[in-house]
Amino acid sequence: MKQILEVENLQVAYGAIKALKGISFRVAEGEMVALIGANGAGKTTTLKTLAGMLSPASGQIRFDGKLHSGIKNYDLIREGLALVPEGRGIFSKLTVMENLEMGAFSRTDGKDAIGADIDRMFAVFPRLKERAFQLAGTMSGGEQQMLAISRALMGKPKLLLLDEPSMGLAPIIVQKIFETIREVVKGGVTLLLVEQNAKLALQTCQRAYVIDGGRIALEGDAKDLLHNEQVQKAYLGE
Ligand code: ATP
Repeated sequence: MKQILEVENLQVAYGAIKALKGISFRVAEGEMVALIGANGAGKTTTLKTLAGMLSPASGQIRFDGKLHSGIKNYDLIREGLALVPEGRGIFSKLTVMENLEMGAFSRTDGKDAIGADIDRMFAVFPRLKERAFQLAGTMSGGEQQMLAISRALMGKPKLLLLDEPSMGLAPIIVQKIFETIREVVKGGVTLLLVEQNAKLALQTCQRAYVIDGGRIALEGDAKDLLHNEQVQKAYLGE
């Protein structure tokens, strides 16, 4: 199995605060992997470091076989890595359509291919099609999350990083978003999902890592972790 992402002993600090104390994990091509853990465990820090927004104090990140450490965001998008951040990061003053076009900015395969992919996103998220010419900032939280995911996919990433897609959304919208995440990923996207909603993340992904206090506390098949007593007590409220 080809590894898309290999992280070795990654350490990241905010000044004196050590947020990541040496974590290692990997994601193979076509896999859906979850990072779960409590508030402040270091999940967002991990994604931000992968996206080149934070520099590691030590450790190694290999993306698609190449070493990367702290390269700027736009270079990573060209390399095939897309982050949907917490809070979504869409362009609120642009329309849905313009946001989707922006997502394809680094592509060189031409207008027709990009147009076909916009149609594909509209097929997955019909709500976005209805709102194609609406300003993104005026849409509901769930619609904005759909747009953020679609925009990231428009860049045809080799690896999609999703940070807390359930954040601030009503349970029924969260279910819908996760259904479509599964659908989209079946279409050949590799996913690293960060979620505080551990149950949903474990039901969605094949494998997972549990982060606790900046370290990997547990790892394994998502199904096994769902039935793991320690996980149930600490993260599933059972
Ligand atoms: P959450 O789900 O609450 O976002 P998380 O697992 O994503 O949690 P991180 O945001 O990665 O956690 O935070 C890890 C640790 O780093 C926490 O102790 C947090 O307080 C600290 N931290 C995060 N951002 C900063 C910052 N900009 N400056 C200082 N400390 C930070």
